Amino acid sequence: MSSSQYTITHVQQIINATGTLVREGSISSLVTDSRQISNPAESIFFALNGRRNGHAFIKEAYEHGVRNFIVTHLPDGDFSAANFLIVDDVLKALQKLAAYHRSEFNLPVIGVTGSNGKTIVKEWLYQLMAADNNIVRNPKSYNSQIGVPLSVWQIRAENTLGIFEAGISTINEMDALQAVIQPTIGVLTHLGSAHDEGFESTAQKITEKLKLFINCNLVVCNYDQITGYAAQFPANAKHFTWSFSSNRADLYVFSETVISKRHYLRAVYNGQEIECLIPFLDEASIENAVTCWAVLLAMGYSPAEADKRLEHLTPVSMRLEMKTGINDCSVIDDSYNSDVQSLAIALNFLQQQNQHKTKTLILSDIYQSGLKQHELYGQVAEMVKNRNIDRFVAVGDDLLNNQQQFAGINQSYFFKDTADLLSHFQELNFNNEAILIKGSRSFEFERVSKALSQKAHETMLEINLNALLGNLNFYKSKLKPGVRLMAMVKAFSYGSGTFEVANILQYNKVDYLAVAYIDEGVALREAGITLPIMVLNPEPSAFDKVIEFKLEPEIYSFGLLDKFIKYIQNNGNDHYPVHIKIDTGMHRLGFEGYELSSLCDLLSGNPYIHVVSVFSHLVASDAEAHDDFTRKQIERFEEASARIEAALGYKVIRHLSNTSGITRWPEAHFDMVRLGIGLYGIDGAVPPHLNGLQPIAKLKTSISQIRSIKAGETVGYNRNGSLQSDGRIATVRIGYADGYLRAFGNGVGKMLLKGVLVPTVGNIAMDMCMIDVSDVDVAEGDEVYVFNEQQTIEDLAKQIGTIPYEILTNISQRVKRVYFYE
Ligand SMILES: *Cc1c(COP(=O)(O)O)cnc(C)c1O
Repeated sequence: MSSSQYTITHVQQIINATGTLVREGSISSLVTDSRQISNPAESIFFALNGRRNGHAFIKEAYEHGVRNFIVTHLPDGDFSAANFLIVDDVLKALQKLAAYHRSEFNLPVIGVTGSNGKTIVKEWLYQLMAADNNIVRNPKSYNSQIGVPLSVWQIRAENTLGIFEAGISTINEMDALQAVIQPTIGVLTHLGSAHDEGFESTAQKITEKLKLFINCNLVVCNYDQITGYAAQFPANAKHFTWSFSSNRADLYVFSETVISKRHYLRAVYNGQEIECLIPFLDEASIENAVTCWAVLLAMGYSPAEADKRLEHLTPVSMRLEMKTGINDCSVIDDSYNSDVQSLAIALNFLQQQNQHKTKTLILSDIYQSGLKQHELYGQVAEMVKNRNIDRFVAVGDDLLNNQQQFAGINQSYFFKDTADLLSHFQELNFNNEAILIKGSRSFEFERVSKALSQKAHETMLEINLNALLGNLNFYKSKLKPGVRLMAMVKAFSYGSGTFEVANILQYNKVDYLAVAYIDEGVALREAGITLPIMVLNPEPSAFDKVIEFKLEPEIYSFGLLDKFIKYIQNNGNDHYPVHIKIDTGMHRLGFEGYELSSLCDLLSGNPYIHVVSVFSHLVASDAEAHDDFTRKQIERFEEASARIEAALGYKVIRHLSNTSGITRWPEAHFDMVRLGIGLYGIDGAVPPHLNGLQPIAKLKTSISQIRSIKAGETVGYNRNGSLQSDGRIATVRIGYADGYLRAFGNGVGKMLLKGVLVPTVGNIAMDMCMIDVSDVDVAEGDEVYVFNEQQTIEDLAKQIGTIPYEILTNISQRVKRVYFYE
């Protein structure tokens, strides 16, 4: 994030750091991630101690040209041209610098906190007030201990209003955020149960959140929510409350009606009746909109003006969506928000897409940036050049007028509006490229997205890549420093995707990938994945591919070892990396105990192969009933791997634990763990709710037809289904060929319709099935969830007596995968 400039000497004073400066320089960008450096000469790198020690990335940042570092100790290595500022706590230093920067400006700042709706309320307040203010705000939901300082750092002299959200997950976190944001106006959004696990009680959570408002002179909140907490509110602040039920609130909303798909609200304010129209219907949106209404009134907007502005609120989507496009393209759709910060984040995601060499950006004019056009498009052009965009498609008059700033980009195209772009679509010839679509709302880039996307079969598996990352980090946090992580991406990453999942794992630096078969490994290589890849079950007929694509075979028997050594020998290779599998109790693949001495003889001094790792697999790491057996497996593995290592005369990576092994058997982590189903949000060993695991997938379909059925009439093949009394059934677009197994038929399986669980009726057919919708108000085309956070994959597995692994991997390739990332 960049802002106005400070000299490095000044920074040193502000954060009170020791260390000798070797050069003077000015600082405008704060960097906490060595992969996201765009302006190295003016960057300062904070070596934060996250899950990985930031000091490990100093070299990478230095090689990118960064010359200023905030550290807790001097790193080893030659960085003689760099300044190192030494502090006790790097995160505190970051916060201190941002807090200093904040206090340099005397502008009204709205601080938003609450359990739900923070980002929406922040973005809506921005939409509502951007016309008469130059606003600075957090990009997306950058609301953490790190995200808030980075956001506040963007404040510039031109800004007339700041809107910053603060998110906390446990006690004693708000003080730091308060010091950085220094809000003058406080806004409290919905208080729900999010992050409850981080607090002892609701009271403790509310008390902590209210610390943000300590120096505010105005606090806007829900009247009903804060009864009982008056003492925690800042004494000098004016309160502005709203309520759906109490006329003691400043804004008492007494009537809600739906008029042509909008919510019409009437309220009493200052003793008068006022009204507003909100273009949303769901409860959460209404509550967030009323919060915004209250803020506008509290800040002095007239009721008429507030109504006019609220009517034009547009949905906020912070996540981008990746799907398969026409002509082998990957389409990344981020057409719901358009500003420089979110462009940087989206470009970063685009760059992670290794599956296509060509990277394309389709961008519209950016509105309400608060910058002068020349400056804005100068920044955009710089970004586009730095991120190696191959094709740049610009849409809008402002971009057209600033065309000269984009000189030097290989292929660039300028169109005056979206219709102009669409009429030249054929000529652009999109083919085998990753395309980021980013446009302001008025450009209606959903038309562009549609033109680029494959026709969507309405059954889709939605994959949340942030949840996947969260799960990865959850398991990483269980590992001792130095223990490596192999991610199991066999069987299309347990049904979740191929390169889409592998790209994010590679970008986030897992150490190894593993696939079941050679062709799965080849597909990943062809998609540009460069991580080492182990193949669990390599077929001798495809050894040529193993070598051509630098895959590393698991060797589990003498027969395979012999064939592979011969193959390597005949091809003139040597020291080829392999992984030796020991059978410690699974009795599936692997060398048994009695075979070890012959194996050691064969391996020792063999010039054709190099044993990278020795491993085995736990049979029941999640099951307490078998813990004695697991202990035995660990013992056997320890002994066998030590023998092999001794025979080889060099160190190997030893690994034994799968997902539940990571959570339940820390003593079995050895040098590496193999994370499988946990990555996808499922772990038999972790009791739900107590953990940081999140489901990553939702399976969604839709209703193609609804019909009324008389009691006793039969439904579907073989007349197996019927209703007890007259009712309605809906036909949905999913069948056993999609992976919704026949076992779910005849009421065994249930689907979610508007949050209500309804049973299947009759047999499941190949491409569709029927559900009983007698008690739900539905229409053709409505969405139906097969699983989501409400009915989980685990629930489905229970319904038909199987395991979650089978449910996930059964979802056929015909079901479209759509990826979300924020
Ligand atoms: C699939 C697999 C794993 C991962 O198991 P999870 O229970 O999904 O974590 C680990 N090791 C081997 C050898 C596997 O085949």
